[in-house]
Amino acid sequence: MAQPKADIALIGLAVMGQNLILNMDSKGFVVCAYNRTVQKVHQFLNNEAKGTKIIGAESLEDMVSKLKTPRKVMLLVKAGSAVDEFVSKLVPLLSKGDIIIDGGNSQYTDTQRWCKQLAGSGIHYVGMGVSGGEDGARYGPSLMPGGHPEAWPSLKPIFQAISAKVNSEPCCDWVGQDGAGHFVKMVHNGIEYGDMQLICEAYHLMKDVLGLDQDEMSRVFAEWNKGDLDSFLIEITTDILKYKENGKFLLPLIRDTAGQKGTGKWTGIAALEHGVPVTLIGEAVFARCLSALKDERVQASKSLPGSSYKFSGDKKAFLEDLRRALYASKIISYAQGFMLLREAAKVNNWTLNYGSIALMWRGGCIIRSAFLGNIKDAFTTNPELTNLLLDPYFNDKIRQSQQSMRQVVANAALVGVPAPAFSAALAYYDGYRSATLPANLLQAQRDYFGAHTYELLSKPGEFVHTNWTGHG
Ligand code: NAP
Repeated sequence: MAQPKADIALIGLAVMGQNLILNMDSKGFVVCAYNRTVQKVHQFLNNEAKGTKIIGAESLEDMVSKLKTPRKVMLLVKAGSAVDEFVSKLVPLLSKGDIIIDGGNSQYTDTQRWCKQLAGSGIHYVGMGVSGGEDGARYGPSLMPGGHPEAWPSLKPIFQAISAKVNSEPCCDWVGQDGAGHFVKMVHNGIEYGDMQLICEAYHLMKDVLGLDQDEMSRVFAEWNKGDLDSFLIEITTDILKYKENGKFLLPLIRDTAGQKGTGKWTGIAALEHGVPVTLIGEAVFARCLSALKDERVQASKSLPGSSYKFSGDKKAFLEDLRRALYASKIISYAQGFMLLREAAKVNNWTLNYGSIALMWRGGCIIRSAFLGNIKDAFTTNPELTNLLLDPYFNDKIRQSQQSMRQVVANAALVGVPAPAFSAALAYYDGYRSATLPANLLQAQRDYFGAHTYELLSKPGEFVHTNWTGHG
């Protein structure tokens, strides 16, 4: 029998799998490709993989026999039952010390389940978030691996070699135990929803409050991309705004109903489950849901009145407010995302390195931005930082921008342009900085109708009930 020669196997020859295989090949690793529909293996070897060192397999048994030990098998298939089916089939074919890596967008709870299930078997399980789309997969993704830590030493050379690099540091490092990698990827995707929604609201306000045309808006975003807001999403927005087909801008011709695949919703659900106010991402998910009600909105637009207020202020000053509000809201969104990571780490006993997570997101992925370098610095200076807003650098930035957030939210409300993410950011900011909130009344209401008791400021830890009506 021929000597096994593949460094790693990859199952799943759709767009992500093919590109990751080509990336691994270009870094000198021998990859064995496999797919449920085996025909796709042949197609791949004869086309995209022609002239490379990539080998193929006809069956899972064939694939396993071609792998050097410890065997490493990576899945890039549809999340959910496809992953479960493959893992169940792979386990009897693998031995102690071998590694299964799920690189799809799986729910972190699925990864936790498999880690638990395989704990006694000696087979190591890794759930790895992969971000950056097909280009990232091909030329350098952001990779967020977590699971059985014993797997990391033999995976590290491969994954750090293929990942994106920022100042020659890889955007890939070990995240933590069981579902930590997939949890971090999920929060990354939630933050991506928030960033996109904020940019969409800025566009809406430029268009409907200031009346800018597309070329003007594109120029504003291009300018913003040179400063604090320097990021992939601002860059592509600049391009999208100026893009024309047959002499016409394409953007206004696109139906205004947003799609979603679920990771933003999962972040919202995790936030609710963990009791963390991740309000901006929540609003970003709901904004997509509202946009999807196109027919109802068209109907409602005929009977629900808006505002007759017209913006008459200084356009240039408002654009600067908008830039500052976008930056401040982003800080707030990331502060919320990191709060969720911190709480999940506490609940699940993960030791997360927040600076290293910021670095993993700094390059390769959709939310890549200069700003993540500042977040990394904040957590490197103080790994115990409870909230980004309390870091001296971001505290100073927020101080400079909070009035701008108020200008933007107030004008949006007066003109009648919905700005749910900007509004959520400001409401969180004002809530978080309030020593006193009206929850005293809420506690009284709960006690009034349900005898839920309340705590007096003068007697901490002591819960009392009042007979509010005097009735027996
Ligand atoms: P995909 O469309 O999500 O999945 C296609 C692959 O899954 C094919 O190899 C398909 O095999 C296999 N598959 C589907 N159902 C299966 C089943 N019941 N049993 C066995 N195999 C099954 O592919 P993708 O877009 O490349 O994404 C792969 C993973 O990466 C997903 O989890 C996705 O969420 C995640 N991801 C995608 C992106 C992106 O930009 N596309 C970015 C980051 C992460 P057949 O060829 O036999 O149908």
